[in-house]
Amino acid sequence: MRLIGLGVSPGIGIGKALLLKRGAPELRFRVPAAMVAREIERLNRARERSREQLQQIRARIAGSAGAEHAYMFDAQLLMLDDAMLIDRAAEIIRTQCLNAGSAVERAFGEIAALFDRADDAYLRERKGDVGDVVGRLCMNLRTARNSLDFFKNLEGPLVLVADELTPSTIAQLDWQCFAAFVTDAGSWTYHTAILARSMHVPAVAGLRDASHAIVPGMLLAVDGATGEVFVDPDPEVLEQVRARQQQRVEFEHSLDEYRRLPAVTEDGVRIRLDANVESPDDARRARESGAEGVGLFRSEFLLAGRGHEALGEDAQFEAYTRLVESMAPGRVTIRTFDVSEAQLPVGTPVPDGARAPLGLRGIRLSLALEDVFQAQLRALLRAASHGPLRIMFPFVSGVEELRAARAAVQRAAETLRARGEPVPPVPVGVMIEVPSAAVTADLLADDADFFSIGTNDLIQYCLAVDRTDDRVSNLYEPLHPAIVRTLRLVSRAARRRSIPVAVCGEMAADPIVLALLVGLGLTEFSMAPTAIPLAKQALRALRARDAETLAARALRARTAAEVEELLTAFISPRERKALKS
Ligand code: PEP
Ligand code: MG
Repeated sequence: MRLIGLGVSPGIGIGKALLLKRGAPELRFRVPAAMVAREIERLNRARERSREQLQQIRARIAGSAGAEHAYMFDAQLLMLDDAMLIDRAAEIIRTQCLNAGSAVERAFGEIAALFDRADDAYLRERKGDVGDVVGRLCMNLRTARNSLDFFKNLEGPLVLVADELTPSTIAQLDWQCFAAFVTDAGSWTYHTAILARSMHVPAVAGLRDASHAIVPGMLLAVDGATGEVFVDPDPEVLEQVRARQQQRVEFEHSLDEYRRLPAVTEDGVRIRLDANVESPDDARRARESGAEGVGLFRSEFLLAGRGHEALGEDAQFEAYTRLVESMAPGRVTIRTFDVSEAQLPVGTPVPDGARAPLGLRGIRLSLALEDVFQAQLRALLRAASHGPLRIMFPFVSGVEELRAARAAVQRAAETLRARGEPVPPVPVGVMIEVPSAAVTADLLADDADFFSIGTNDLIQYCLAVDRTDDRVSNLYEPLHPAIVRTLRLVSRAARRRSIPVAVCGEMAADPIVLALLVGLGLTEFSMAPTAIPLAKQALRALRARDAETLAARALRARTAAEVEELLTAFISPRERKALKS
């Protein structure tokens, strides 16, 4: 069987399928007898964590809505001590050697069957409350720091098959035992795919129902460039896939020489290439790939799978300093947390109210959570004493937000000075990724020290196409005339106000598109480290003057297809051949 999805991270991976379903609270697997005690301890830790959270929620509700509304959390707290739930789950772990998540589910199944048989409608409804507690327990089992430890004991190579896969899950996996992953959902710019590319893990997304069609243990051969997934391939197909793997390795080696060469066009225009990284430990990989610095550190990855302590000033200071020191003298641009409320560590007090996807996110959430924001800003300002660092705000929609954020930087600086700590000057910039910011780029430029264009979000919001939804990924067109024009608008605004402007969205990593971006006057790019050697090769073969002519033509094109035609005709047959491999 051959499945076809979207190749979102090139490379070949061959291994046995391991399934991870969002619907199921956790992987179902048997724990070796020697690890039973550890599994029960995990269950107990999840119970304690759930207890703390429920107590916090109870107190908040009692304070805001009144004690009478808090009673249901008393009932949930009692359930955490109910022998039919926790003790029974522990017994299932002990006697059936099941992992904690499955054991809790199974115990819940038994309780639910009892409730279903009850005549009393009130009792039947209580099943929902127990389900709520079970959901919380399972969530805490999943997000506990060591919840993914079991992957370390699996025999690889494996291919992870998931319906959906969060970036925080893949950030925590031990990729020693995984050769690739494939998902039902997702597309090129969803964060899990971005992370896969920067970790060099082959991946295919948007397979729709792979997690149904594939049975655990099946052999899979994944081609992350073409989007093909061969299920239980016969020896001949396997041989062909292995030959592709060899070609890919050779192609990458052929780019090695570019790592050390400067990024400069054939006619001498100097281009700055930085790396997008998600962990302070990626700095080495960024340097080895030939990046000058880090153009985007997605600081929210520091929170992935961690508890509330990850929001602390000292923990962040240590992480930022590690990144800055390992990249010095290269410059590091750190973006403040770009998360929604739901992605904050469990237990972070967030303002009550609706939770829409375009609600409190990015800079809005930071401005709403003064303590969290101040701790991050203090950590950043302190780390700036250890090497060149710039602060960047995500999801800014206009001048007022930027001013409010800059005022917060001032407050953080004052706090540090009052503590007697030095505060070096730190450039403060904005991501241009919300259409209103792009349209008012000339106004923002007066208050910003630099711009970085986040094309991933800019495209999704300009074109009203969800970047994570594989069903509309054909409408997600980076070369849409609206995007080409918007890029020119921002590039011009920055140039007129003499502030640097970079592109840090995935668009910059496409060597064919780079010619267009250079032609639009953009000379700074940040991309996954793995994309840098190829980008250097493309830039060194490019004449900026020709790129300008290309951009002028692209600006007159009426459709994305017309722009694409212009770009394809522009690159030489030699480059086209190289890019196909
Ligand atoms: C972007 O939106 O282009 C970007 C770089 O940020 P992220 O992908 O993290 O949203
Ligand atoms: Mg973004």
